Amino acid sequence: MDIHEYQAKQILSSQFGLPVPRGGLAYSPEQASYRALEIGGDCWVVKAQIHSGARGRAGGVRICRSETEVWDAAAELFGKRLVTHQTGPAGKVVYRVYVEEAVPIERELYLGLVLDRQSERVMLVASAAGGMEIEEISDAEPDSLIRCSADPAVGLQGFQAREIAFGLGLDTGQIGQMNEILLGCYRAFRDLDANMVELNPLVITDRGRLLVLDAKMSFDDNALFRHPAISELRDKSQEDKRETYAADRGLAYVGLDGEIGCIVNGAGLAMATLDMIKLAGGDAANFLDIGGGAAPDRVVKAFKCVLTDPKVKVVLVNIFAGINRCDWVAEGVVKAVRELKLDLPIVVRLAGTHVAEGQKILQESGLPLGVATTLADAAALSVAAWRDTIRLSA
Ligand code: GDP
Ligand code: MN
Repeated sequence: MDIHEYQAKQILSSQFGLPVPRGGLAYSPEQASYRALEIGGDCWVVKAQIHSGARGRAGGVRICRSETEVWDAAAELFGKRLVTHQTGPAGKVVYRVYVEEAVPIERELYLGLVLDRQSERVMLVASAAGGMEIEEISDAEPDSLIRCSADPAVGLQGFQAREIAFGLGLDTGQIGQMNEILLGCYRAFRDLDANMVELNPLVITDRGRLLVLDAKMSFDDNALFRHPAISELRDKSQEDKRETYAADRGLAYVGLDGEIGCIVNGAGLAMATLDMIKLAGGDAANFLDIGGGAAPDRVVKAFKCVLTDPKVKVVLVNIFAGINRCDWVAEGVVKAVRELKLDLPIVVRLAGTHVAEGQKILQESGLPLGVATTLADAAALSVAAWRDTIRLSA
């Protein structure tokens, strides 16, 4: 789960002692200009709060020199759909802006913490070339990257933090500050079950102080149950509607761009199904793993979930029943078609436990379902149905 910049800054400053600029959240232009008044000074930054980086280049970060300018910048941002290279072409709509005191910048640094699956450790990545996205840094300035991984038994060590600080070319006064920031980020990452903490840029101000100008955090969904305060920060307006619907119903769903909806049990089989559809010349609309105990009602839910996507033209049900039962799934398919009054082509491939019973249920239903025995046939049949080259009949 992602959170907004202002929420990440709030957490990192109040619970982990990181230095952030003074700022306030606004839901309207009036509120934004009032925030500027509260903060004081004569220069502010108005920042669109969307779940994406690279907002600056998309016009989502505005420097303002009067309260009127703050009002205007906010008015322009509210309701706007910002498209960055991270949001995809659909973009994300701005419903909140964050107003901060503007800070004169001497240097921009990059700091990121991620989970390195290979070493099974939290990895810190730092660079003196901040301000750019990490992908650009590793393309343009790969030698500037400093990597360091923390042993979970002892956590990030002081000497490691100092090594990073030296590597970034910080002076003696800044090394202590950097230590605090690195250790704070590490604790935040570990204590809150984060997937990612990114400070970009972490700046050195004209007075030589370190300050977190932009912060991004993302959390492990499977650990959210033990962080209720973090769960509350979820902002559904920033999520893919289809994925929100599925997540709220306990289904593992990832939206894709094609037109063949997939209902599959098991993540591996779901991946294989996407590959087979591609091989047959089509494109899947989603990845969906309905899991082991697929009772008929769960299958109906899965259909509802897949059909929240208006692009779906064909549904392919592919079940290899081990713990599962094909007759249950078949009952679910029949129930879904009747209850949801579906009239789009549906292809079903069942294999494994109770397959004969399952196929019997499908045949006796009298519904115009495309039945396939192998995955290759199922994929080919779905693609053919999608191309409208065949008519499925009972
Ligand atoms: P992002 O584009 O979504 O990553 O948004 P950032 O918060 O990182 O802002 C983008 C860029 O705007 C930063 O790299 C800075 O160069 C600039 N910026 C943001 N806040 C300030 C500020 O307070 N003062 C100055 N001078 N520049 C800022
Ligand atoms: Mn940034």
